[in-house]
Amino acid sequence: MKVLAGISLHTKLTLRYALALSLVAMLTLASYALMQNAVGTEVLGAKLLNVAGRQRMLCQRVEILAMRAQREAGTERQARLQEMDEALKELSEGHDLLVHGPAKDLGLDEDSPALTLLRNDDDGAEGLFKGFVAEAMKLRQNLAKGQDWQTGVASMQRISHDGDALLKALDSRMSRLERMGESTLRSFSRLVVGLLGAALAGLLLTGWAILRPMVAEVVRDREQLESLNRSLETQAGTDKLTGAYNRRTWDVEIQREFSKARRQGVRLSLVMTDLDLFKRVNDEHGHQRGDLVLQEFTQRLRQTVRASDTVFRLGGEEFAVLLPGTDLEQGRLTAEKLREGVARSPLSGLAITASFGVADTGGDESPDELFRRADQALYAAKANGRDRVEIMKKES
Ligand code: GH3
Ligand code: MG
Ligand code: MG
Repeated sequence: MKVLAGISLHTKLTLRYALALSLVAMLTLASYALMQNAVGTEVLGAKLLNVAGRQRMLCQRVEILAMRAQREAGTERQARLQEMDEALKELSEGHDLLVHGPAKDLGLDEDSPALTLLRNDDDGAEGLFKGFVAEAMKLRQNLAKGQDWQTGVASMQRISHDGDALLKALDSRMSRLERMGESTLRSFSRLVVGLLGAALAGLLLTGWAILRPMVAEVVRDREQLESLNRSLETQAGTDKLTGAYNRRTWDVEIQREFSKARRQGVRLSLVMTDLDLFKRVNDEHGHQRGDLVLQEFTQRLRQTVRASDTVFRLGGEEFAVLLPGTDLEQGRLTAEKLREGVARSPLSGLAITASFGVADTGGDESPDELFRRADQALYAAKANGRDRVEIMKKES
């Protein structure tokens, strides 16, 4: 999505999400519209069949009523004739609706195939209908005039004959209509299935082409951010030159180790160390060489102490090592080991020594007090000739 370059991540994701949702919504709406249409067609079929079926029933009713009126006389015959009038009227109205009525009254379009079928008189149903109605009317008039049943037999036979032919024509039209409805429904259902398939494919495509890269991008950005955060945190907490923890971390760690010592009832030792006559290194070999010495000194300190011990660079060439769970004597031994290690092998090819001051605590004082004692011990080590370890006990 190169088009989206330069837009904020938030806008980019929102746009993609909106696009994905619109796609799904459009496909769903299209399926819905088609299904509505299919249901509409079914309703239309039922409406047509209902009117057409009623025509069939009315046609039979006219025949039956004519037969009954023929056998009856007086007011009963009058009543049958009345019913016959009504049935004929209804039949004509139905016929008008089916064959001449406005398309919309049948729920059809002007150009619908069903309407063409209805209005196309290729089966001669129109003529049959007219003949049947005319014959029925003629018989009805004669019966009203008091004609006896024998006279009407021939007329009745004609009605019955015309009626049968008309019924056949109506039946054939109905089944053609039904077949047409079924085939329309079938093609609609094929369309709906196709559209649903397209909707599903659209969903898959949306997931694959839009949502998947979107999630991947979010995850990637998040991972980058987390790793950046981690490196920023590390950078903020460590010294750039030596990689040792800086004063900032020191402030946090010393508090933590103090309360840990207090809580667990163990001793915590602090070793302060400072390179001896380091100024000379800078003066004689240059500042860069001095930097290398500082880096190697840090490594030496780290390699010698335990994993649970922490090395800090508190400034210049002054370092502190925190030794949790370590009393003064053990701290002194550790400092001795460190001193020996520095004195024994050169740092950046230069023979150099360091002085050490050690103090310990049970966490029952302020960190500043511990720091002050260790610093005093270091001062004493310098004063007593350097390349030494001095300790400073807490005054009781
Ligand atoms: P002492 O034995 O009494 O400690 O003598 P010293 O020469 O080491 O004296 P001091 O500790 O006062 O001198 C510290 C020197 O360390 C001064 C400064 O030039 C140098 N220094 C401090 N920070 C850095 C640094 O980051 N890189 C380098 N190359 N030198 C540094
Ligand atoms: Mg020094
Ligand atoms: Mg110093």
